[in-house]
Amino acid sequence: MIEAREKNTRTIDPSRADAFERLASLSDPDLDDLTRALQMRVALNQIDSPALAVDIDGTVLDANDATGSLALNRDDLRGRPLWAPSLWHIADADTVLAPLIESCLDGRTRSRTIDIGEIEPRPLRIEITPIFGPNRSGPHRSVTLLLAELHPLTDRQETDAIIAATAQKLAAAEDIFRAVAEYTSDLVCLHEPDGTFTYVSPSVKRLLGLDASSVVGSQPVDLAHSDTRKALVHALQDASRRGSEPTRFRHRLRHRNGSYRWFETSITPIRDADGAPHQLQSSSRDITQQRETEQNLIKKAFHDELTGLPNKALLIDRMTQAFAASERTQQPIGVLLIDLDGFKTANDTLGHQTGVTALTKVAERLTAIVRPGDTLARIGSDEFVMLCAGTDGARGATVVARRIIDAFEQPFVLEGREVHLGVSIGIATALGDNDSTRVLDNAETAMFEAKQEGRGRFAIHNEADQSLALERLSTEEALRRAVGNNELRLHYQPEIDLDSNCIVGFEALVRWQRPDGRLILPDDFIPLAEESGLIVDIGKWVIREACRQAAQWRVHRTPDQEPVRIWVNLSARQLGDPDLINYVQSAIDDAGITTDEICLEITESALMGDAETATEQLDELRRLGISLGIDDFGIGWSQFGYLQRLPLDVLKIDRSFVAGLGAEKSAATIVAAIIDLAHALGLVVIAEGVETLQQLEVLAELDCDQALGFYFSQPQSPEAFDEVLTPLS
Ligand code: C2E
Ligand code: MG
Ligand code: MG
Repeated sequence: MIEAREKNTRTIDPSRADAFERLASLSDPDLDDLTRALQMRVALNQIDSPALAVDIDGTVLDANDATGSLALNRDDLRGRPLWAPSLWHIADADTVLAPLIESCLDGRTRSRTIDIGEIEPRPLRIEITPIFGPNRSGPHRSVTLLLAELHPLTDRQETDAIIAATAQKLAAAEDIFRAVAEYTSDLVCLHEPDGTFTYVSPSVKRLLGLDASSVVGSQPVDLAHSDTRKALVHALQDASRRGSEPTRFRHRLRHRNGSYRWFETSITPIRDADGAPHQLQSSSRDITQQRETEQNLIKKAFHDELTGLPNKALLIDRMTQAFAASERTQQPIGVLLIDLDGFKTANDTLGHQTGVTALTKVAERLTAIVRPGDTLARIGSDEFVMLCAGTDGARGATVVARRIIDAFEQPFVLEGREVHLGVSIGIATALGDNDSTRVLDNAETAMFEAKQEGRGRFAIHNEADQSLALERLSTEEALRRAVGNNELRLHYQPEIDLDSNCIVGFEALVRWQRPDGRLILPDDFIPLAEESGLIVDIGKWVIREACRQAAQWRVHRTPDQEPVRIWVNLSARQLGDPDLINYVQSAIDDAGITTDEICLEITESALMGDAETATEQLDELRRLGISLGIDDFGIGWSQFGYLQRLPLDVLKIDRSFVAGLGAEKSAATIVAAIIDLAHALGLVVIAEGVETLQQLEVLAELDCDQALGFYFSQPQSPEAFDEVLTPLS
């Protein structure tokens, strides 16, 4: 029942009392209309809360400024009945407000909870206070005007707190609790500790279409949806066990019309003097609309609007889960990227709307193929992805791809016409943890391959390429750490002077000693180092180490002996590094050697890039006193003009020419020509890759200056040469 209270005597606030006086005086028949209107506005504005002056027949006469806070417009209200539909959330506000006004004519203040708001209901308490004419103290009291005050009940916590606190005092004043319970638009109930309803607020009519009296005595689970019944039972048990903290949960209750509505409920135990819970109090807010909005937002964020299929974001999420599962089970995942053939043309000729219909039909056809547990997503205008778990790798994915292609043999009926739409499919497989973007890229690459081979086909991403790429990636990572981890080694191959048969120098050749004991030769990591740019750091280390070794070998020589020279290979990247001169100089200085003890060699191809920078750098190195050589001569360039332009000292004949010496006549002719050319340019000639005595003899005959090769020695660790370099005393 609505709690009625006499309010006219509440005159604690002087301005409020003044407002009531002023409103009462308005019934004076001598007042002219203008004065009456002014006085009414002044009186209303003395009331802090949003308030309306209402005629005894329910017509709104005026509203105070505070009604603006409820987004009410005074001009819209004036002259209309208080229950005008535009004001309230419910259409039939008259059924609530007309009787309320009528009941106040007996001189008592009454209030009601009612929702305003056009879209979102906002509960408020409307409190109507009758205003008496001047003769109110006489025996014939008559109500001349009504003051309607609007108190919004927006703060859920606040109402909950009031209800909970009031409920605690219930034993003493149950009627007060009910009065408060009836102010709120939420469903407020009292229960036995086992859940049985003992009190149900009248809002149950609005929320569930039920009469409060019919609910009392029943159990909440009788109204619960089977999906959330367990949650409700647990919450009731939980609430009985807890202290005074409310238990909050979300669940569904059945409306009288058979539909279900979502509620957010908090249950608070009410304890007796000994602290034992003898009752439970629950407040439930209808969150059906809020949940629908939430669900719609979730659906929109993860689904394609046109087909309702998962979108790319959801697909990526599913792929991540599938990879994690594959990591556990070691079962490969198949990813099929399905692209419609000629969709764009069909779209252009048949029109956009038909295109849209086609896409939904395609989605339906694919959905019929997808197995439970697998995911079909639309990730582009005419691009779909099927994620298949447990497909037995590429073989299983192939079976699915064939089935899809077969399914598209059947034409689609679009606007009464038969239209053929084919598909091209790219398949990628993944085992264990993987990067979804990379797997999708692989599937796309394969799809393009399929398209190129003719439409209506599928192609599988080449796993060998993929594993090669992976291996490369991990080698690159390891190589990146190799310098810091001290995994690089220099081996040395002696260079022999063909006149004196003495060692005159060494070529420094880098090796990578992997932690697992393998010794990797430069051909297997220098190209990768070049591509990744790691060669610059490796090269710095090689120069530093070669200088250190030169210094160490020095102690084995007597002052009258020529120093041994160490030849270091320089890559194209290093030649382009502006820091090159600095680090060569500082490596020489730090080792305490002279610039004629270290020499640098470059291949012809290294010169082919930025020739200008290369020339400048070589000039600069030469100025420092460093000898420069051209490596692998004869296999790079067909033009030899650079030999003249560049500041070179040495030319090394590529071992492919040397290999033919003695066997092929032409080889000797070429080598002879190279030696003559080099000598004519004042260069020292070194032959690489001498393996036999015969080759050596031909080279000596052709007047070659020096040679290196397995005939003399394999590249070896520096200690192997310590003894050779020590002169016999
Ligand atoms: P390269 O500078 O032409 O070095 C000569 C290569 O021929 C060496 O291979 C050497 O072991 C091999 N060799 C020497 N004598 C013979 C022989 O009689 N017969 C045969 N079949 N081969 C012989 P390695 O050490 O595997 O080096 C290969 C290439 O790697 C080098 O060719 C050089 O271009 C590059 N390299 C080596 N160390 C470095 C370095 O520190 N920096 C740079 N940028 N490249 C390097
Ligand atoms: Mg070399
Ligand atoms: Mg060479």
